[in-house]
This record gives sequence, structure tokens and C-alpha cells, in this order.
Amino acid sequence: MNLKNIDSYFSVSLSGMRKIIKDFQSEMEKGLSGEKCSLKMIPTYVDRPTGEEKGSFIALDLGGTNFRILGAELKGNGKYKVSRVKKFVLGKRYITGTARQFFDFIAGCIKTFIKRRARVAQEERAVGFTFSFPVEQTGTASGTLLRWTKGFTVKGVIGHDVVRLLNEALARKGLPGVRIAALANDTVGTLVSRAYEDRHCDIGVILGTGTNACYLEELSNISKWHGYRTSSGRMIVNIEWGNFDSLPMTSYDGQVDRTSDRTGQQTLEKMVSGMYLGEITRLILKDLLKWKMPQSFKTEYMSVIESDESASLSRTGSLLKKIGIKNSTIDDRRLIKKICGMVSLRASRISAAAIAAVIRKIDPALSRNHTVAIDGTLYEKHPRFSDHIKDALKEIFGKKASRIKTVLTKDGSGKGAAIIAATATHDYHD
Ligand code: ADP
Ligand code: MG
Repeated sequence: MNLKNIDSYFSVSLSGMRKIIKDFQSEMEKGLSGEKCSLKMIPTYVDRPTGEEKGSFIALDLGGTNFRILGAELKGNGKYKVSRVKKFVLGKRYITGTARQFFDFIAGCIKTFIKRRARVAQEERAVGFTFSFPVEQTGTASGTLLRWTKGFTVKGVIGHDVVRLLNEALARKGLPGVRIAALANDTVGTLVSRAYEDRHCDIGVILGTGTNACYLEELSNISKWHGYRTSSGRMIVNIEWGNFDSLPMTSYDGQVDRTSDRTGQQTLEKMVSGMYLGEITRLILKDLLKWKMPQSFKTEYMSVIESDESASLSRTGSLLKKIGIKNSTIDDRRLIKKICGMVSLRASRISAAAIAAVIRKIDPALSRNHTVAIDGTLYEKHPRFSDHIKDALKEIFGKKASRIKTVLTKDGSGKGAAIIAATATHDYHD
């Protein structure tokens, strides 16, 4: 690989996106019928909300670097208020330790959150739990962890019901009144959160530490499903799209894969999400420029570099200095900006192709409006990711792309959990 052809090595053309769309749709079909394939297509027990769900709830959002607890008040008519958000950092020793340490830490955070309130209304103890890992739902408030992703390796959780483990930890902390009313994936929380106020919302996407998506499907299309039926005949399906693997990998992707915790799995996630983009960039720079690179190059740096519009790329220069690359020339800086741009452009075009595949699946002629609710710091903070997705959707769908709205749904994964908890407390179905 050299500097001249690296661009084409990373580019995703329109025909490249079309191939992804075709393969992705075929994997979705297989997943829905229960055939072995890269997409798990997990039925979630959750339907789109009506916007009339009401009450006060606590929502937990756990799925990556940060663990958030929210207090949410649903007012009906599509209106809600998030009264309080508290962030806790999940240290490495918790995400790589034992189940007991992990869930006791979370239960402890909930206890802190509740204690800080002078008076807690009874219904506020119904908790919506967003847990963003591949979980086989076994009910509205129960589900078995299939495997860890995103660097988590907590022992004794795979194969177990995560709600039961959390409830046991809550009991150990002396919080018997706190009840987990719903378990949801973050993509589902994001879809539900936007759908509460927007009836066109039928896709939820996460672009943060990891990446995944869900969408609203007709039960009759989920041919493997013989369980709980919603009254509308529709159910949200968690695609677990991070594991899609029909993608042209470069040698750098191969390196990322081999040194990551799940070699051979989560191929799309490793080419798209925040946990890996910085590392891909680092490997390219190390290889092409023969630079002595630091051990880690954060995806955050790419946002800084790509939004540096100064003539001498001075912000890039000081960032490089900070991470140990002194005396970079303007040509070095231009090159590093180009490489960051290339890596993030590829990620956004793969995401757009996957979104397009889902839209084609539910509405082949694109005859309706669709809102795609997107949460995650990569999407929120990267200077170009959202525009690149929009541009790619225009390339794919032409004028009809105006029927697709992509919207940042900040903290959607948490708010959605509160809405799902509200639905669950009013309608016991299993
Ligand atoms: P999670 O996915 O853990 O719920 P977030 O959605 O907040 O959390 O995503 C965090 C990830 O987003 C970080 O791991 C990092 O890779 C990426 N990230 C954080 N800040 C930025 C930024 N300024 N620009 C691009 N990516 C970022
Ligand atoms: Mg998240």
C-alpha cells in the first residue's frame, strides 16, 4: 500500500453501496427466518409507542464507556421531560471483572441516584433498563446475554438473564422497591424515544462506541417468531448489524480484527464505530508515514483534525504535539487530515448503505416518509458524519431521499427505556 492508492483502497463507490444493500437485505431475510447468518434479527417484544404513555420513570443506559441514569417524566401527547441525568464511568476493572462486581457497581449507582432525591414517588421506582449488547429477549423485562462486545468481558454473565442479575444486586444494596420494568437495546430506546413524538420514526441507529440498528417490522415477516404478539401486529427487531460481514476489508481492518477481543466477529462495527476508527487511522499512519505513533489514537482526534480549517492546520499541529508527534510539517498535517477523512467517509457510507437496506426492506418503493433516529457521540460530534450519510442516501435514492429524515436523538437510548417501562407497567403480557 502506498499514499497514491490508499484512497481507492478505502473508497466505497455507489456500486459498492449497492452491493452492501443487496447482501444486507439477504442477511436480514435469513435472520428473520431463523437461518444461520451474520444478522441475529432479535424480536424485542416492543411496539412503537403511541405518544400517550404517561408517568415518571427511571431509565438506565448501559452499553459502553459511560453509564447514565435518567429521571424522565412522560406527559403524553408526545411530550416528555428529562428531569435529571447522572453519568458514571464504567472503569476497566468493572467491565473486565466478575458479574457480582459489575452489577453491584450498577446497583450502587442507582442507589446514589435515588438517595439524592428528597422524595421519590412510588412509580419512579419502575426502571427501564437499556442494555446495549446482544441479548436474546425472553420477555419484556428479561433477556439472556448472548455475548459481550465493545471490550466487555465480565465473567459469569453470558447465558444468564441480565435483569435477574441486576435485581439480585439491587436486593443486596437494600433496594427491593426498585423494579426493572423493561429491558431494551439502545437502538430500540432510540427508536421509541423519537417515535413518541414522531409517527414516521421506524428506524433507530446507534453510532457511538459501537454501532447497531433496529426497525419496526410486521410480525408476519418475522417467520421464526412464535412468541408474544403485539396488538398492532408489528414489533421492533434488533438487527445487531455490527456483525454484518459482507464488506471489503483492508489489511488495516484485518489488523484491528486480529488484535480486538472478538476476532472474526463484529466486522461492520470494526469498520464503522468510534471504538475502532481512531485505531484504523493510527495503523495507516504508522504504516505509510513510518511515524512512531502513540499506543492509542482516539476517534475524538479525528473530529478535531477534520474540523481544523486553519491555513496551517495549527490545531492539528498542537494535537499531534500533545500525543508525542513533534515538529509535524504542513504536508504531514494535510496528509493526516486526508487519512482521517478517508476513514470516517468510509464508515459513514457503510452506515448509509445499511440504513438504505433497512428502508428498502420495509418500503421497497420508498413510498412513505421515514425518520431514522440516530444516537451516539460519533454521529453527534464528528463534523461530517451526518452530512456524509445524507449525501450517500441521496446518491442511493435520488430525489426520493427527501422522504428520509435522519435526526440526532440525543440520549434517546435512555429516554426510550423510560417510555418502554411506561408501556410495560400498563400492559403485562407474558
Ligand atoms: P456509548 O456508545 O458508550 O453509549 P457514546 O455514544 O457517548 O457512548 O459514544 C462514545 C464514543 O464516541 C467514544 O468511545 C468515542 O469513540 C466516540 N467519540 C467521543 N467523542 C467523539 C468526538 N468528539 N468525535 C468523534 N467520536 C467521538
Ligand atoms: Mg449509548
